[in-house]
Amino acid sequence: MATVVIIEDEPSIGALVRTYLERDGWEVAWARTARDGERAVTEGQPAAVVLDLGLPDGDGLALAGRLAPDVPLVILTARGDEADRLAGFALGADDYVAKPFSPRELVARVRAVVRRAERAPRTAPPQELALGAVLCRPAAREVRVDGRPVELTVKEFDLLRHLLERAGTVVTRDALLAEVWGFAAQGQTRTVDQHVAQLRAKLGAGDVIRTVRGIGYKAAA
Ligand code: CA
Repeated sequence: MATVVIIEDEPSIGALVRTYLERDGWEVAWARTARDGERAVTEGQPAAVVLDLGLPDGDGLALAGRLAPDVPLVILTARGDEADRLAGFALGADDYVAKPFSPRELVARVRAVVRRAERAPRTAPPQELALGAVLCRPAAREVRVDGRPVELTVKEFDLLRHLLERAGTVVTRDALLAEVWGFAAQGQTRTVDQHVAQLRAKLGAGDVIRTVRGIGYKAAA
């Protein structure tokens, strides 16, 4: 049975989340500190992690940055404002649930990030994605334009990779939010536009991203 690790110091919330996850069929390991949580993730290879940002022994955001590359991560926190949410996503969190929350919705989001991870295994990305002057090596998280390396943020890179993997196909802003940021919610599409603008500026003359008016974006040479 697949395990979900909960990292949460609040007894009532941890117990609530555990109850609902177990009812949904998950094995649950509950850690009360960042240190125990990190160990549980490293040793247990869980299907997903539910992480509270406010932990007694350290900043959950820093922990998110360490865990996110390897395991689907849902951040659960009272700090629901946009800056924290975006920081969480920038570190690679797959979804974000603000307290107070619906435990049923949290369980649904855990299922969704696990499904997404199964569809796109983190362990075996393609070797190279090439389009026009752009060469992207997902495993190395490396991008070159005309042979020159380009420094991208985590989300800029994920955006580019997502579009390159679907080159020639239009991807809607909502789909990009859902797949790159993990938002189930609508209405945050300005975030996508901002990141695309930054990404295009960095690609410069080698830009391969086309705006499809009123719909979204596509990669095309
Ligand atoms: Ca807490």
